[in-house]
Amino acid sequence: MDFTLSDEHRMMKQVFREFADNEIAPRADELDKSGEFPRENLQKLGREGHMGIPIPEEWGGAGADFMSYIFCLEEVSRACASTGVILAVHTSLGIYSILYHGSQEQKERYVTRLAAGEMLGAFALSEPEAGSDAGALRTRARRDGDHYVLDGNKVWITSAGEADVYVVFATMDPEKKTRGITAFLVDKDTPGLTIGPKEKKMGLIASSTCELIFDECRVPAENLLGEEGGGFKIAMSLLDGGRIGIAAQGLGIAQAAVDASLEYAKTRQQFNQPIANFQAIQFKLADLATELEAARLLVYRAAFHKDRDLPCTREASMAKYFATDLAMKAGIEAVQIYGGYGYSREYPVERFMRDAKVTQIYEGTNQIQRIVVAREILK
Ligand SMILES: Cc1cc2nc3c(=O)[nH]c(=O)nc-3n(C[C@H](O)[C@H](O)[C@H](O)COP(=O)(O)OP(=O)(O)OC[C@H]3O[C@@H](n4cnc5c(N)ncnc54)[C@H](O)[C@@H]3O)c2cc1C
Repeated sequence: MDFTLSDEHRMMKQVFREFADNEIAPRADELDKSGEFPRENLQKLGREGHMGIPIPEEWGGAGADFMSYIFCLEEVSRACASTGVILAVHTSLGIYSILYHGSQEQKERYVTRLAAGEMLGAFALSEPEAGSDAGALRTRARRDGDHYVLDGNKVWITSAGEADVYVVFATMDPEKKTRGITAFLVDKDTPGLTIGPKEKKMGLIASSTCELIFDECRVPAENLLGEEGGGFKIAMSLLDGGRIGIAAQGLGIAQAAVDASLEYAKTRQQFNQPIANFQAIQFKLADLATELEAARLLVYRAAFHKDRDLPCTREASMAKYFATDLAMKAGIEAVQIYGGYGYSREYPVERFMRDAKVTQIYEGTNQIQRIVVAREILK
């Protein structure tokens, strides 16, 4: 067993770390306050080839492994979790849907441009009445000549209004339950698609999250992804990779909170000494540092499995809930260690706390992850 990174991985991680520190971190606070979509960050990521890290070079990607992509998500999220989620949805859900399930023509039309950062991808599964129970979705699709016609609503869609293409799931026959669900590639300017107002969120303020409204939305038949009735399988095939991605986002946020806490504890003086001298603070820092190491091992192990096509459902869910629960804990503890200053928007730790919360909710809530783990270990 070897717990060290290979030279190549260590170099990759360093590249992503410097990129995140120099190019992403400086504007993170400003973007969180203004809510401006981080288009500039995405352009920088695209220029460096980071919008398609694990995508084969023949499809316009960097041709690196999944682990390298996880390092990038971790480092980018450490600097700006809003940019992190956009990158995660674009790659793990948007590009992978088409790479794994698209036709040759769809891959040529979309994957090459998505992986190069020339297009932004989004993924629309959730609905007002179908969140954890995604199979209960109600958006309808029917065939009409050489088009499919979509009617219904999607909610909470990351990058809505900013993305160029949406992977959309709709049912062609509710009686068939999940076997009626079908996936479509819907271009942003498709007639009948409108974007709702931006959600006013607690965190990830710079990421755009909106409703998609489909009203007699006419999608060309060639934009069917996979086959009719095969949509739910497509969505399920992306879960493990998507969850490892959000686990990496949690890891990045947790690291940011721990780094800030360590720095502050060493400099803040009370009772004529740094607060790091107090055991109450030391124990918080020790617990966080230990759990951070454990989370990192879980996340990297899950990515290791994915890179080798080993089963990773259990590993992905364990990593997702452990790392994102830790992100939340680290955010709360960082605010506590900063005391009153932690409660102020002048300091970054309250952003880490707000950003962390949603990582426990999306890509399958952490209750759903525990259900998956329990099912796997009770098999
Ligand atoms: C900022 C943000 C971005 C998002 N981006 C996207 C996106 O890009 N695309 C997309 O499709 N969706 C997206 N989502 C939606 C997200 O995936 C859902 O919010 C999530 O799956 C939970 O669904 P829900 O909100 O309907 O909660 P519900 O499913 O209603 O859950 C409510 C509560 O009940 C619990 N619960 C539900 N079922 C069970 C059960 N069987 N056992 C135990 N507890 C249970 C949940 O854990 C939760 O605590 C996003 C959400 C947010 C907030």
